[in-house]
Amino acid sequence: MAGSTIAPARPGAPRPASTCAPCPPRSRAAWSMSDWPMAADPIVIIGGGESAACAIAGLRSEGYRGPVVWVCEEAIHAYERPTLSKQFLGSGDARPSSVIPAELLDDPGIDIRLDTRATHLDAGNRLVTLNGSEQIAYSGLLLATGAEARDLDLPGRNPARWLTLRRASDAARLRPCLNAQSRIVIVGAGLIGLELAAAARMAGAQVTVIESQDRPLARVLPPAIADIALARHRRMGVAFQFGASIAGVESGPEGERIVLGSGAEITADLVLVAIGSVPRTELAESAGLAIANGVALDAQLRTSHPDIWASGDCCAFPLDGRMVRLESWEAARLLGEIAGRNMAGRALQADILPWFWSDQYDLGIQGLGLPPDGATVVHRTLGPDSALAFVLCPEGRLRAIQGIGPETSIAKHIKRARQFIRDGAVSDPAILQDADQSIWAAFRPLAVAS
Ligand SMILES: Cc1cc2nc3c(=O)[nH]c(=O)nc-3n(C[C@H](O)[C@H](O)[C@H](O)COP(=O)(O)OP(=O)(O)OC[C@H]3O[C@@H](n4cnc5c(N)ncnc54)[C@H](O)[C@@H]3O)c2cc1C
Repeated sequence: MAGSTIAPARPGAPRPASTCAPCPPRSRAAWSMSDWPMAADPIVIIGGGESAACAIAGLRSEGYRGPVVWVCEEAIHAYERPTLSKQFLGSGDARPSSVIPAELLDDPGIDIRLDTRATHLDAGNRLVTLNGSEQIAYSGLLLATGAEARDLDLPGRNPARWLTLRRASDAARLRPCLNAQSRIVIVGAGLIGLELAAAARMAGAQVTVIESQDRPLARVLPPAIADIALARHRRMGVAFQFGASIAGVESGPEGERIVLGSGAEITADLVLVAIGSVPRTELAESAGLAIANGVALDAQLRTSHPDIWASGDCCAFPLDGRMVRLESWEAARLLGEIAGRNMAGRALQADILPWFWSDQYDLGIQGLGLPPDGATVVHRTLGPDSALAFVLCPEGRLRAIQGIGPETSIAKHIKRARQFIRDGAVSDPAILQDADQSIWAAFRPLAVAS
């Protein structure tokens, strides 16, 4: 979204007093909630995550002063979810840090309902049911219900020894199990699976990762970047089983005995299932809204019903000519802000540049942009544990970049790439691969290149 003022750059950085800075002059849509009479029904925000918090900040930043009811299923205020597989596991913190700006907490017009679940949505009558009983009439409603971790319900398993990670309560349950005496099996070598592998190894646990693909991070990163992460995990003592399927599970006093399709057996005290997530669409479904790998939206984040918007991990929206569902912290924030501002009368397009990061040991991984099908991937080695992958269209236009390196060392490249991707700049693959040539000096506008 051009001109988004959302901050901070990533969790852990100090938060400003307001999530959204003052906005540019408005171009009003046909109707607006900003001047909604105070007696009107409230705007209801469903979901207690990052996206919901940014939506409320977006509403207020556009001048909507009416009542807001914020319905949050979890018992604690919206918090930094990404830390659950990282710092929080190694900390003694009672809970992850809150993401709600102080002025929203102090806002008397925001009625925060913790430990409360929206159970039914009647879009025709603009009514939402809470905890199966209380009904609230709304003037507009946002679904920011996030996603839930996909689980593996295998026969023979002892559910007490199998865990998925989505909520602070999951992380609190996991934390004491990560110690030098524990044998941990992680199913799934995606970003969260590998972050958990790093956290478990750093706590001294014995770790085996089971993955059905023949390499890690196959859904999100090219092999050259993923291989650096894999090598580090192996050096740290993580064992991997690639191309593996689970043929059976037996639970006994020794732990969970997992039999792989190859016949290999692994015994674990705890099995962490990290095989992706499923969007929370049940409320949208109860209202008969269109669903397509998430709550289906238009480019302004409206659902198939004009009074209902959605944002964050629960939704799919048009970007770069296709419907996408993004599961990343920054996207959840940006989409929340856009949805909130649009609910207040703006007509902003969700034209965002997706970005994610992951931390594993001292390695930082980042990805920016939406790699298109059939793109060329060009690699540049930066050091023993560091590389960039440039995703280029046939004419050499930069569409996405991914990288890995110690700490935040690749951040400066991702930052440079942001403007070049936005501008549609082109470069020569031979220069990008050549360690003796400047990466960025050769980028130029497409028109000059052709
Ligand atoms: C362990 C973990 C690590 C991650 N690490 C990274 C990372 O390093 N980098 C990155 O870019 N992204 C990361 N992510 C992804 C990022 O955290 C999410 O994309 C982001 O939190 C999504 O925000 P959201 O507000 O859309 O959904 P959520 O944060 O899932 O919040 C949705 C909330 O709505 C509540 N809810 C659902 N249904 C209802 C209902 N009917 N009534 C009331 N409340 C309801 C849920 O309980 C939940 O509290 C990570 C995610 C996880 C789980």
